[in-house]
Amino acid sequence: MEPIFEAIVPTELDVVGDARKFQVRRVFCVARNYAAHAREMGQDPAREPPFFFTKPADAVFPVADDGSSVWPYPLASRDVHHEFELVVALGSGGIDLDLEQARCCVWAYAPGLDMTRRDLQAEAKKAGRPWDVAKAFDASAPVGPLTPVAACGWLDRGSIALEVDGEVRQRGDLADMIWSIPEVIATLSGLFELKAGDLIFTGTPEGVGPVVAGNRLAGRIDGLPPMRLTIGPRDGRA
Ligand code: MN
Repeated sequence: MEPIFEAIVPTELDVVGDARKFQVRRVFCVARNYAAHAREMGQDPAREPPFFFTKPADAVFPVADDGSSVWPYPLASRDVHHEFELVVALGSGGIDLDLEQARCCVWAYAPGLDMTRRDLQAEAKKAGRPWDVAKAFDASAPVGPLTPVAACGWLDRGSIALEVDGEVRQRGDLADMIWSIPEVIATLSGLFELKAGDLIFTGTPEGVGPVVAGNRLAGRIDGLPPMRLTIGPRDGRA
């Protein structure tokens, strides 16, 4: 059957050491998964069940491993923040998974940015509205190449840090996650049927802040290649 319009091409990510591509199905994100970041956002970091939001698969912005990527500054915001996160890529899924089953769904990891229009998020929070305009905009999910678990092992501790123009802005340790990766996946699998191709952003350490045109971001997670990109110019419409 011919599609009516041009065929929709899935977003694909490169895989370190593998010529094949990882096709993205869905993008889930965990909010407030590091206590220090929950506090900086004015929240009590008590161990309440994790909560989630999503981004469209085509909001994933694949970041080249040579640092040449220029990220398009979005429409309608004057306060876009970086949230540097470990991204988990699933190679299988299911529903109502236990912790061991959840762990076995992890196929690869990548560095990623949950870019956030903080001004629009503040308005949404104040009015009790959904976060979509703040979180799910075009190119809102830069993700670097994936490193398979088979190559790097399980990542449950190690440094996670983001530099902006050579200055460390975010720093934390993967061991500081309030909800571990298997716990996040298991909880999510009680809400959605998970499948191969799903990405999960696992939350950001403290130090989130605004980006401006020309900023050079470098994100580093122990065990993974670094992710580098440059913030592109504003288009003047915000
Ligand atoms: Mn986030």
